[in-house]
Amino acid sequence: MSPARQAILEELQALQVPPLSGNIYAIGRNYRDHALELNNPIPQEPVLFLKAPSSLRQAALGPIAYPEESFHHELELVFLLDPKQAAAGWESVAAVSLGLDLTRRGVQSQLKQQGLPWTLAKSFQGAAIVGPWKKLAGRWWQEPIDLNLEVNGELRQQGSSADMIFDIPTLLQFLRRGQELEAGDLLFSGTPAGVGPIRQGDSFRMRSERLGIDCRGVL
Ligand code: ZN
Repeated sequence: MSPARQAILEELQALQVPPLSGNIYAIGRNYRDHALELNNPIPQEPVLFLKAPSSLRQAALGPIAYPEESFHHELELVFLLDPKQAAAGWESVAAVSLGLDLTRRGVQSQLKQQGLPWTLAKSFQGAAIVGPWKKLAGRWWQEPIDLNLEVNGELRQQGSSADMIFDIPTLLQFLRRGQELEAGDLLFSGTPAGVGPIRQGDSFRMRSERLGIDCRGVL
């Protein structure tokens, strides 16, 4: 098992939430402003893609050797699921974190033009970065969650879960059409506007006041 995966498993165990199942679901175009900034239509139903389990790593783990030197950052709320706790909806979330859905934008544009799957652009070593995990109490979903990203000290992305086109219960319902959700599944829930280049060696900071996360990393 990779050190990145091991470190996350230890963190989840300490929080007493399910270990990683390996599934990493990701949603594209879930914020209107982001869909428009890449000249994509506003989706009528969720745009789903997958990232391989081996693409996961902790933000705090430090730089790794990436297969390419330039990516786009996509700051996202990441949800750890525990669908056994309830039949559906918000109660199926065991913990929340912030993450970066690193994307080879140039490769993705070519794949889109050719009508091919996005896998090469979205799934590679270190492509799914996550911050520290937070367990939320009570009816936490009634207040929006803020998310902020700085790169090299410059504010790049700022958003709120209130602006998601499809909320978590809707996304889970959508996923369940195709598969049974498992405890420990991860859901990258889409990025707000402001995506842009991030290069190896750049420092980044993911923050959410609501989640109590202030996490720094180096790509
Ligand atoms: Zn994304």
